[in-house]
Amino acid sequence: MLEKKKFTRRTPGLEVPRTIIPRWVKGKGPEFEMEYRRRWVLTYWRDIVGDYIARNVELMGIRNKTLLYYSGSSAWNNEMRLLMPQIVDKMNRFAGCEIIREVRLTRRWEKPEAGDVLAFRAWLRQEENKVPDFRKERRRASLSPAEDESVKALAGKAQDEELGGLLGTIYRKHLQLKKVQKKHGWLPCADCGALTEPTPKVLKGEAEAVCPHCRARRAEAQRAAIRKVLTDIPWARPPQVAEFVPGATPKLVAEQRAMLVQKLASQVEFGDKKSLKALQLVMLFRVLPPEQLTEDVVERTLYHLRYVLCKPKDYKAPKRYSVIKTGKEGAKARETLAQGAKDFLKK
Ligand SMILES: [Zn+2]
Repeated sequence: MLEKKKFTRRTPGLEVPRTIIPRWVKGKGPEFEMEYRRRWVLTYWRDIVGDYIARNVELMGIRNKTLLYYSGSSAWNNEMRLLMPQIVDKMNRFAGCEIIREVRLTRRWEKPEAGDVLAFRAWLRQEENKVPDFRKERRRASLSPAEDESVKALAGKAQDEELGGLLGTIYRKHLQLKKVQKKHGWLPCADCGALTEPTPKVLKGEAEAVCPHCRARRAEAQRAAIRKVLTDIPWARPPQVAEFVPGATPKLVAEQRAMLVQKLASQVEFGDKKSLKALQLVMLFRVLPPEQLTEDVVERTLYHLRYVLCKPKDYKAPKRYSVIKTGKEGAKARETLAQGAKDFLKK
């Protein structure tokens, strides 16, 4: 069993994430930041968990917030299960965010991602080459003494000398680029503060400056808000949705309606005409309020959607006229409110 003492002694003063994650990482957007943190903890695995663990299990990589390791010893697999909470906690604290949720045994990978400083360096170089425009101007931009210091401090944080040098170089370029961008009128993103090129609308004062990453995040939040309105009020038309979600265009509403129809349909079994979900599906698809939800409409709509509905095991495709009523029966069905529709009205 691992001694607690050893564990703490081996990791004196674990670096505070805020000090190891430079500003330039944040400025490059959440995806880059996560990847950077992931690679950082993989590279420093031995320092995080200590020699004792690092000697006995081989770290492979991280997939979907699961830290994967290999060990040929069943005793060590048990040990790892016991140590899981501690390892998860240490890794996440080192990363400064939730980088893993669990630790799991896997087979041995041909090319483990872990501890590969070379891979980290290669990835950083590749990211560095993505730096946009202003190349000449950037090279000429000079840094203040304080900025020079922060570059040196960052470079000194990495235990691998070459990696440290590379981090310093990239951070220096980042600071230079920011100066040039400011000179060219780039503005801080309203959400994350990263400098972003202003669009014509921003320049005219019609919109606030938002970087591409945050724009994408805002768009997804808007789509989620539209789906929420459509879930609560399936018969809402675009203008009504726009009352709750500013900027919801008819096209956006139609897209999210189609998405919800697909999702609901996969949860409604063929033949189900009474459940809340079935009625919601009909209202959503036909854009009908509950007071117009007649038996006939429900029958016809669910029949129309038969190919996307969830099928029970003994499902047989029905004949159209065994489902949809005609003549007197049909007239009655057209006038009768569907079962459950009244409950919906009461809500
Ligand atoms: Zn942003």
